[in-house]
Amino acid sequence: MTNKNEFLEAQKFIPGGVNSPVRAFINVGSEPFIVEKGDGAYIYDVEGNKYLDFVQSWGPLLFGHCDEDIENAVISTAKKGLSFGAPSPLETKLAKLILDDFNYIDKIRFVSSGTEATMSAIRLARGYSKKDGIIKFEGCYHGHSDSLLVKAGSGATTFGTTSSAGVPKDIAKHTFVATYNDIESVKNILKENKDIGTIIIEPIAGNMGLVPSKKEFLDELRQICDENKIVLILDEVMSGYRASALGSYEFYKIKADIITFGKVIGGGLNAAAFAGKKEIMDNLSPLGGVYQAGTLSGNPVAMAAGIASLTKIKNSPNLYKNLENLAIKFTNGLKDIASKNKIPLQICVRGSMFGYFFTDKEVLNFKDALTSNLDIFSKFHTGMINEGVFLAPSQFETGFICSKMSEEDIDFALNKAQKVMDNL
Ligand SMILES: *Cc1c(COP(=O)(O)O)cnc(C)c1O
Repeated sequence: MTNKNEFLEAQKFIPGGVNSPVRAFINVGSEPFIVEKGDGAYIYDVEGNKYLDFVQSWGPLLFGHCDEDIENAVISTAKKGLSFGAPSPLETKLAKLILDDFNYIDKIRFVSSGTEATMSAIRLARGYSKKDGIIKFEGCYHGHSDSLLVKAGSGATTFGTTSSAGVPKDIAKHTFVATYNDIESVKNILKENKDIGTIIIEPIAGNMGLVPSKKEFLDELRQICDENKIVLILDEVMSGYRASALGSYEFYKIKADIITFGKVIGGGLNAAAFAGKKEIMDNLSPLGGVYQAGTLSGNPVAMAAGIASLTKIKNSPNLYKNLENLAIKFTNGLKDIASKNKIPLQICVRGSMFGYFFTDKEVLNFKDALTSNLDIFSKFHTGMINEGVFLAPSQFETGFICSKMSEEDIDFALNKAQKVMDNL
């Protein structure tokens, strides 16, 4: 079996050979390796090559591949049945584990993907605010539902245009696109549009590379939402239990009206959720008029994986500090190597999340992110893959540290980075 043959075969039956586009390595002009298995901090391809894995399934695997506690929870739960279509105590248990951490939210509903979580949160926010208009920020990704596949139109206050074929213009016209970390762009939209009842944001953006909000910006955003009775959705599908045990709250102390979760709360299985105050959440069916449902929602095996992950988090007081130290060691090391080679590099760390851009401009929003030298990024990425280090195959993604990584693993990656950058 070779990566090349397996990928060719996949492309015959699956569009592009992948079930999620970024996996195809299109952004770096190469071809993906095909995975045989994972183990701790490492992932192995079908040719037996081993890679230090900074992708970690794009975030969910805080404890790396094949964590024993999560694996055991999944196996023992699976033996009692895979899905019931009726309530099980595991759903309440995971709900309590999450709600215990956030004293200002009362209720949570589980779904199967981050896309469903944000899509449902927006429907709920619209039902509650009784307004159709929403604001999102350029460069933030909230899954692939119609209302959210929208990018900035021309002119700051015009409504967005669709960023995917197949999204009706009539839906996109309700989505307004503001500039990240730019409160004036929000005010400008609100000045001209009275029908906005929802703002959705990644408080720590991880889908244009890693770009955290400025504290004053988020504070002002919260204030604007309060003054205008706008529902503020903090999309923490990535940052939740990744940037810290409290997600962005640790850094900003901002209270969402609705928070969305995904990735880590499923421990590698298909669980995501949206949560908020009782007053908002009780508008969901069967209590209220906002319809939302799912055959596999709250799936017992996914709940068990989530419970095992969150329990481990609660039992590991130094977890995020340790992960952050490794992320800092890696990015500082990269920065040193880059400057020795006169390659501009911006670095950023939030807990177990890290980012790096090949630009000398500070990155505060998507336009800044676009100044990164994508040619250097691609060459660096391909070089690292060839040296056994798996970094996300796009400049506009985030890197992840897992608990199975060690200082030695980071040294290994930095040695390889040195070799690759010396030859760029
Ligand atoms: C990954 C992600 C989503 C979408 O989650 P899926 O499970 O891929 O549908 C939504 N929002 C953010 C911030 C994400 O990082």
